[in-house]
Amino acid sequence: MIPQTDLSWQEESWQSALKNLVTDANELCALLQLDPQQLDLSPEAATQFQLKVPRSFVARMEIGNASDPLLRQVLNVKDELLQVPGFVSDPLEEHESNPLPGLIHKYKNRALLTVSGACAIHCRYCFRRHFDYEANNPGSDGWLPVLRYIQENPEINEIIFSGGDPLNAPDRVLKKLTEQLKNIPSLKRLRVHTRFPLVIPQRITDDCIDWLSLFSNTVVVLHINHAQEIDKHVAEAISRLKSAGLILLNQAVLLKGVNDSLKDQQDLHQSCFDLGIQPYYLHMLDPVKGSAHFDVDKDVALNLYEEMRGSLSGYMLPKLVRETPGDIAKTPL
Ligand SMILES: *Cc1c(COP(=O)(O)O)cnc(C)c1O
Ligand code: SF4
Repeated sequence: MIPQTDLSWQEESWQSALKNLVTDANELCALLQLDPQQLDLSPEAATQFQLKVPRSFVARMEIGNASDPLLRQVLNVKDELLQVPGFVSDPLEEHESNPLPGLIHKYKNRALLTVSGACAIHCRYCFRRHFDYEANNPGSDGWLPVLRYIQENPEINEIIFSGGDPLNAPDRVLKKLTEQLKNIPSLKRLRVHTRFPLVIPQRITDDCIDWLSLFSNTVVVLHINHAQEIDKHVAEAISRLKSAGLILLNQAVLLKGVNDSLKDQQDLHQSCFDLGIQPYYLHMLDPVKGSAHFDVDKDVALNLYEEMRGSLSGYMLPKLVRETPGDIAKTPL
């Protein structure tokens, strides 16, 4: 990989990194020395779901490689406009389990809070790309009804911060919310699903570690899809989380052209484990409109998984699952 000449992003705070994202496909191509004509770009796809990628993530893409696995996750291409039967706007039917704005209570003991509608990166395969975050924004004192709901449903013992990406919110907001949740005796665990340590590693500040440590059991679920996403800055951020005693898990999505080979999967789960991150789930793609070109056929996935089973230590093998609307939990394949 050829180092990029502009390394100023390394000195930035996470807030300024967020303001300084790459949002233009032509700029992205220029940074990677790629000819935009060869990439099947679709401005229309970017109108539906904006191109958005932090410079620190771009720096981990290989210069001149049009099929780079990190690039493929973020580039707006014509394939997204294909209408494919079965690929819909709300594949998980989450509106069915959305009792209050900001709250998704689908599985008995755990409830998910959409803490922030925004993300630092736009992953083209995201099942929330059509999610109505505006309607689901609880507003300034809007967490009160959600906190009351949790209090009134003591079978909920775990809260999941999700989004969007929850770490998109300021630490001050996250700290206040965590403190309020900490006061609910039935809650035993906090879980945070985020891509920030991967995409803007400087997000893991002291203040962030501070509220993450309020619960005695906090699980941080990273969403790493490819070993190439991990560089020394990411490893540092992960080491900070690890040193704070947090439990780190990884959840990946199986994506065609990104991580659908045995080598990709081996490298990913071994690299995670060696950094102290336990492989958790390997998700089949949710059939969201615009993402069909990432779909790996079920039989192909099962064959790959069988090869993984023969090539990875048992404790490094993530569970291969898909999300099925109405099921009591994620569905194993
Ligand atoms: C995936 C998911 C969870 C967490 O499920 P686990 O199997 O415990 O990881 C919780 N709530 C919702 C709405 C989810 O989609
Ligand atoms: S919610 Fe997660 S997968 Fe979706 S765009 Fe945001 S960071 Fe990417």
